[in-house]
Amino acid sequence: MDRALGSVTAGSGRGSLSVREVSLVYQGRRGDVQALDRISFDIRPNAFTVIVGPSGCGKSSFLYLAAGLAEVTSGEILVNDRRVDGPGRDRGMVFQSYTLFPWLTVRQNVEYGPRRAGVDAARRREISDHYLSEIGLAGFADHYPKQLSGGMMQRVAIARALANDPDILLMDEPFGALDSQTRRSMQKLLLRVWEHSHKTVAFVTHDIDEAILLGDRVLVMTARPGRIKADIPVAIPRPRDPEITLEPDFIALKRQIIELLRDEIDEGH
Ligand code: ADP
Ligand code: MG
Repeated sequence: MDRALGSVTAGSGRGSLSVREVSLVYQGRRGDVQALDRISFDIRPNAFTVIVGPSGCGKSSFLYLAAGLAEVTSGEILVNDRRVDGPGRDRGMVFQSYTLFPWLTVRQNVEYGPRRAGVDAARRREISDHYLSEIGLAGFADHYPKQLSGGMMQRVAIARALANDPDILLMDEPFGALDSQTRRSMQKLLLRVWEHSHKTVAFVTHDIDEAILLGDRVLVMTARPGRIKADIPVAIPRPRDPEITLEPDFIALKRQIIELLRDEIDEGH
């Protein structure tokens, strides 16, 4: 791979994500909708960055742009110091809705990306064994998605994204459809996987507890057109577990983020 050929920026490198003055305008039949207004931020390699913001502020749109599934109206997004101009195996996506292929088994879903990339069968098997065990579903390799619970399907979706060995995981409310107990165990699992894999993560959620529990940093967006309203470091030591939601530092951060979001929601009405 020709990763080394991109322009080099201070503080960047493999797994870096750089967002520079990105705006996005959707052109629709009933006029233009500005979804994003000159958002800029940098994510360093291996960091876990969480994005929160009012509904409709452009969070999903941003992830689509970073994934290369849509095009910026102006500005640029750099991944590994190279300008994003389409989808690539350096970025893996996990969505809220279940996106597994229903006609493939769990193992075949996990091996889908490597198979498309021409990875040979023996190596594919190693990859799927590794990630199925990482997500605790080694015993379900031959099951089909419809035989799994929602939480299990999302675990497979995470394994499928990781099987491509991306540098960056883009996650759009991946636990949003799960009950609170399953969500907690998924958060723990994701933290563990992240600590092992050293991927860069950009994670969208509307659950503030989840944002603080997972993130090194929480970016708070304004109501549409989305701008970056605040960039809040989360200095709570790791490893973290859900008990920290009861600690004063956690509660203070939560209060701060709720205030920031409340202003946005109030202004919009
Ligand atoms: P979020 O994920 O923060 O809820 P989205 O990125 O889904 O927000 O959407 C941002 C804004 O752009 C919303 O107002 C939404 O209605 C609008 N939007 C999203 N997709 C399209 C589209 N394909 N065409 C026109 N408007 C869109
Ligand atoms: Mg969304």
